[in-house]
Amino acid sequence: MDEELALFRHTVARFIGAEMTPHDAEWREQHHVGADIWRRAGQLGLLCADIPAQYGGMGGTFRHEAILHEELARAGMTGFGSGVHSICAHYLLNHGQEEQKQRWLPRMAQGELIGAIAMTEPGAGSDLQAIRTRALRDGDDYIVNGSKLFITNGYLAGLLALAVKTDPAQRARGISILMVETKNLAGYRVGRILDKMGMKSQDTAELFFEDVRVPASNLLGGEPGNGFAQMMSDLPYERVIVALAAVGAMEGAIEATVRYVQERQAFGHALAEFQNARFKIAEVATIAKIARTFVDDCVARVAEGTLDTATASMAKWWTTDMQQQVLDECVQLHGGYGYMNEYLVCRMFADARVQRIYGGTNEIMKELIARSLLQR
Ligand SMILES: Cc1cc2nc3c(=O)[nH]c(=O)nc-3n(C[C@H](O)[C@H](O)[C@H](O)COP(=O)(O)OP(=O)(O)OC[C@H]3O[C@@H](n4cnc5c(N)ncnc54)[C@H](O)[C@@H]3O)c2cc1C
Repeated sequence: MDEELALFRHTVARFIGAEMTPHDAEWREQHHVGADIWRRAGQLGLLCADIPAQYGGMGGTFRHEAILHEELARAGMTGFGSGVHSICAHYLLNHGQEEQKQRWLPRMAQGELIGAIAMTEPGAGSDLQAIRTRALRDGDDYIVNGSKLFITNGYLAGLLALAVKTDPAQRARGISILMVETKNLAGYRVGRILDKMGMKSQDTAELFFEDVRVPASNLLGGEPGNGFAQMMSDLPYERVIVALAAVGAMEGAIEATVRYVQERQAFGHALAEFQNARFKIAEVATIAKIARTFVDDCVARVAEGTLDTATASMAKWWTTDMQQQVLDECVQLHGGYGYMNEYLVCRMFADARVQRIYGGTNEIMKELIARSLLQR
């Protein structure tokens, strides 16, 4: 952190507190945050913070990006899918042709075009190479047929980074990423917003494609068959975003719990006077500090472009496992109130569970780490 980053954090935190938190209950009820808050975040320059100014971004570094994801998690604002929006923008930045970057990035930075990453299908999650959504070439277009499941920002998204098979006979080499603009797109349909355990204000949705025509010029990077490699090369960035959300949530939950145990009375004492509460607070604060130190190092290495996949995978699985442990203790210290949705720690506890599942499951993370260390 330096003075400029501290100022940026202040702006982000103020925006979340003043313009997001008051709408949380309404957003949870409707299962999405609406398009207006995206445009507002864009107006304030909070989106695409690490995208160069020539493409409409803030021209900052991943340190700026990190602040947004952390502060959202600290406040429990898990419906605003800024992580996948940024990941979608980075696919364009890292692999897109110049014309593709110019076409989409400025609108993403303004919040006019909300990004989503559409990889998972009913029959293909961890085993991404098994996807069946096809994009077959027909003149200047691809014709897309298939469906996607569990897509974050799926209801609001105006731009999808869609994983497709351009050569269904092949596994990894048959995969490409098509950038798909969804507005008024014939044959494209958003299914229901899925009813989840947590993240109630996140518009996680099913997407359907029936003979959807997408211009061939929307193929990310222009060459078919590079999709799998493009996805793999951006994984450290994505995994650190998940880890940042874990650290932000742990810190936010601990702050709320520290306040709570000092206010709540039992047997004529504040809970904070009981040794168990004191020890539990000490334990979760230690875990959060270790996570913060590790993830800060990952952030610096993403900013330098030196973070390797195995370390990013360590950060993802460990911080999200710890997030769940820490949230469990915070709920316990709140007693029955911790089980009530009006309390932040309750919502955070439910939101935390999926962190171990998406972005590559924690088992897949361990597999990747093991692969980097073992011969077989
Ligand atoms: C709320 C939410 C948001 C999501 N957002 C998105 C999104 O924006 N875009 C998107 O494309 N996807 C998204 N996903 C999908 C998510 O990435 C997948 O659910 C995840 O990758 C796991 O795939 P799966 O559900 O098919 O489980 P499976 O792959 O069927 O896994 C089931 C279990 O088997 C284990 N397993 C599988 N293979 C192995 C192996 N080789 N070794 C050891 N264990 C293994 C897994 O770890 C897991 O425990 C989201 C999911 C949720 C719930």
